[in-house]
Amino acid sequence: MIDRPTIERILDAAQIVDVVQEFVPLKKRGANYLGLCPFHNEKTPSFTVSPTKEIFKCFGCGKVGNSVNFVMEHEHLTYPEALKYLARKYHIEIVEKELSREEIDKQNERESLLVVTAYAARQFTENLFQTDEGITVGLTYFTERGFRQQTLKKFEVGYSFEKRDAFSRKALEDGHKQDFLVKTGLSIQSEDRIFDRFSGRVMFPIHSLSGQVLGFGGRILKKDPKSAKYLNSPESEIYHKSRILYGIYQARKSITEQDRCYLVEGYTDVMSVHEAGIENVVASSGTSLTQEQVRLIKRFTQNITILYDGDAAGIKASLRGIDIVLEEGMNVKIVLLPDGEDPDSYSKKTSNTEFAQYLKENETDFIRFKTRLLLAEANNDPVKKADLIRDVVKSIAVIPETITRTVYIKECSTLLEVTEPILYHEVNKLLQQKSFQDRNKYPAAEDLPVPPPVQIKPVKPETLSLYSEREIIRLLLKFGGSEFERIINKEDGMEEIITVSDYIVKEITSDELSFENHVCARIFDDFRFHTEHGLIAGDKQFIKHEDPEISSFSADLLADSHELSRIWKEKQTYVETEEMKLKELVGDVVLKFKSDKIMTKRKEIMALLQQAVKENDTDKVLVLQKRFNNLSIALGMISKKLGNRILL
Ligand SMILES: [Zn+2]
Repeated sequence: MIDRPTIERILDAAQIVDVVQEFVPLKKRGANYLGLCPFHNEKTPSFTVSPTKEIFKCFGCGKVGNSVNFVMEHEHLTYPEALKYLARKYHIEIVEKELSREEIDKQNERESLLVVTAYAARQFTENLFQTDEGITVGLTYFTERGFRQQTLKKFEVGYSFEKRDAFSRKALEDGHKQDFLVKTGLSIQSEDRIFDRFSGRVMFPIHSLSGQVLGFGGRILKKDPKSAKYLNSPESEIYHKSRILYGIYQARKSITEQDRCYLVEGYTDVMSVHEAGIENVVASSGTSLTQEQVRLIKRFTQNITILYDGDAAGIKASLRGIDIVLEEGMNVKIVLLPDGEDPDSYSKKTSNTEFAQYLKENETDFIRFKTRLLLAEANNDPVKKADLIRDVVKSIAVIPETITRTVYIKECSTLLEVTEPILYHEVNKLLQQKSFQDRNKYPAAEDLPVPPPVQIKPVKPETLSLYSEREIIRLLLKFGGSEFERIINKEDGMEEIITVSDYIVKEITSDELSFENHVCARIFDDFRFHTEHGLIAGDKQFIKHEDPEISSFSADLLADSHELSRIWKEKQTYVETEEMKLKELVGDVVLKFKSDKIMTKRKEIMALLQQAVKENDTDKVLVLQKRFNNLSIALGMISKKLGNRILL
């Protein structure tokens, strides 16, 4: 647990523009900043960041909140994790309280493992550049393959000695604990002996986004049929191969700048492509691409280009894995390298300009590529062709954007010589299955290319009442401390300022009205508490509230505040800003709130009344009738005050 004062310090330090900009490029627009929303796919920016309100809001998907909410949402972190993230960013020391023994151990262990991997990376580079064995075996391998020193240093490559316990021994000598050596997978313990996982290999450290060494890949240099050519660190507390991409640390800046990420297969491919002047390149190091890896790329760009080498069969096998990229709404392109070449060999054969030129000219859209490849293979065999259509349809169906899907359907219809309606039908079938399977991932019905009949829902009274509840809270947040009116105190003749929150709190509490929405109720209670104690509650206190429900609710309300209250629209009064007619607006919103509450009450009584009539309970009928009439009278009075506008 992080203590309250630390949380306050973090919240005060976190600058929303600064926080968001780390992940989303923003442009200044007036008082706000604008960018492409990281939470949904969009081509025109509707993601707004307000530095004065210290909130973000996307007008496309509705996501809204403060800095902490943003980090939570974007990085998939919990509230305390997001706070810690911000604390690191702003160099605030975290004061934790009552951390359980287990939590401390886990945290310490993670850090200890990172110390070991950093140490190992240093050892391996030292071996490579400063020892006879490293230079003659390791460095020779790299130089023979044409790598420049600069690149080797950039990727911190190294060398592990032939001797099977060289590293482990040295590490123990240097005071590293055996336990951590084993847990990182660098050392293997067998009975009472300890030896190295990697020996006689060139070493490729795998970095986290922030440059920490998480694990290693090692390539053997001797011809040894018993050993694997490539060996990777095992999964550990710090290394999860499905969550990391080789080269992402070195590539992240360039990916953002170029707005594209190249994907290759191996460690040396990444390094060669770097040497060819293209730095926005990563590798999934042997595993097929995972959703986490795709999302890692998606933080920086929507565009991914996969470099393929090899034969059609090999390519075909890996095509299925690409659906995962489409599913994330990213644009996927394919570059097929010339026969017999891989990124490493081809980039060495060509000049940097030629290589870049080749990538540019041979870029094919993924769906088109896949369709052509399979089409060539089907070779007019009707059964194979039916399979092919299903296969292509599957890829199209995972694309989250309707427009993109429509474009592909059109194009594939021509390529496959199948009519568009048939393809639509197949795609929709899959979409419906899928949306049934996971409703969260797909915005179901409204996103289908052919929309099903729309159901018109009757407006519920609760939603009406919720609107006025939200309006009350919005006015409190935005204008709570503003002057509502000045009155002369009868006792001492002094002029007294009544604030908006004084007025609203008094009106609502004296009529003993309450809020249905629990978030509204909690915020109102806070205002009431402050008002009753002569204090003024500020909007920041709610925007920065520790309960994410309250902070995002408040942020949402304040984000919309440039829009005039619907009350004005109903009244058809023209005003530039709400401040201009604040008193009237507050009065009207309170009246509307009251009338909504009365209407709800009246509905309840009507139900009881009908029940009483059914039961022939005359006394009860009379009492209820009387209450019903009183409420109707009250409603009539309010409606008159509001200018005879019919209150729904
Ligand atoms: Zn959005």
